[in-house]
Amino acid sequence: MIVVKTVKEMQQLSKKFKSSDNSIGYVATMGFLHEGHLSLVNEARKRDDIVIMSIFVNPTQFGPNEDFETYPRDFERDCQLAEANGVDVLFYPSVTEMYPSELTSEIHVVKRTNVLCGKSRPGHFDGVATVLFKFFHIISPDRVYFGMKDAQQVAVIEGFLTDYFFPISLVTCPTVREHDGLAKSSRNVNLTTKERKEAPIIYEKLQQVKMLVENGVRDCEQLKKTIVNKLSSAITGKIDYVELLTYPDLTKTNTIKGKMILAVAVQYSKVRLIDNIILTIKEDNECIEQ
Ligand code: AMP
Repeated sequence: MIVVKTVKEMQQLSKKFKSSDNSIGYVATMGFLHEGHLSLVNEARKRDDIVIMSIFVNPTQFGPNEDFETYPRDFERDCQLAEANGVDVLFYPSVTEMYPSELTSEIHVVKRTNVLCGKSRPGHFDGVATVLFKFFHIISPDRVYFGMKDAQQVAVIEGFLTDYFFPISLVTCPTVREHDGLAKSSRNVNLTTKERKEAPIIYEKLQQVKMLVENGVRDCEQLKKTIVNKLSSAITGKIDYVELLTYPDLTKTNTIKGKMILAVAVQYSKVRLIDNIILTIKEDNECIEQ
C-alpha cells in the first residue's frame, strides 16, 4: 500500500493508473476505520483495479460547536486495517494541503439540505460537497463508494454528480451494524457505557415502525408520532429529529408510497448518532427494506 500526503503526488499517481487503463474505485473517509468503511473497500475491490481511500477529517463540514477536535483519530491503526483490507493507495493530506488558501468560490448545495442533518447542521453539506469536489478532481475515480448510513449525504452527492456531469458512478453500500443493531460509527467510542447500552434501541424502534408499515399503516404523521413516543420513553439521549421523507428527494408527504427514508438523529452527551432505514412501498403494498 502506498501512503500519499500531497495533492500533487496523488494527481500524478491517478494519472499513471488511468494511462495504464486501470479503473479507480474511491472510498472517502474521516478515518478511525471500522467494518462499515471496510465494507466499502470490499465492494470497490470487487469492481475496480485500484482502490484509493482518503482519510481526512474535513474542518469545513463541522460547525463551531461540533466535535472536530474530539473526532477520534488513529492513523497507525487505520494504515494497518486499510492495507490488510486491500487498499492500494491511502491518501492522507493535512488540512493545509487541502485548504492552502482561502477559497475563492464555494460550493453551496441548494436542494435536499433543508431537512434532517442539513437543517440541524447548517453549512454541513456545503463543506462535504466542497471537499468531495476537491477529492473527485484530484483522484478522478471511475466509481465512488458511499454508505447508506449517511443517506442524506448520498442524496446530495447523487445530485451534484448529475448537476456537474462528473464521469463517475456512485455505488451505495448498506449500513453495517454491531451485533446488537447499533449502526457502526467512528463516533460510537465517544458514547458513555450507559449510552452505548441504550443506543441499539434507536434501530430497534426503526424496525418496529417498519413493521407498522408492513402491516398497512400509511399515515406519515401517525408513524412519526409513534416512533417519537417509543423513542423518547426508552432513551436518555435527546431526539434531534425523526423524519419520514421521500428518498432521494427528501420531501415531505402525507401518505407513504414509493421509496421513503425513515431517519433519526439523537444527541448524547458527546456524540450525535444518526440512523435510518430506506423502505420501498410497492404498487401491491409490499414493503421492502433496502
Ligand atoms: P465517515 O468516515 O464517517 O465520513 O464515513 C466514510 C464512509 O463510510 C461514508 O460513505 C459513510 O457512509 C460510510 N460508513 C460509515 N459508517 C458506515 C456503516 N456503519 N456502514 C456502512 N457504511 C458506513
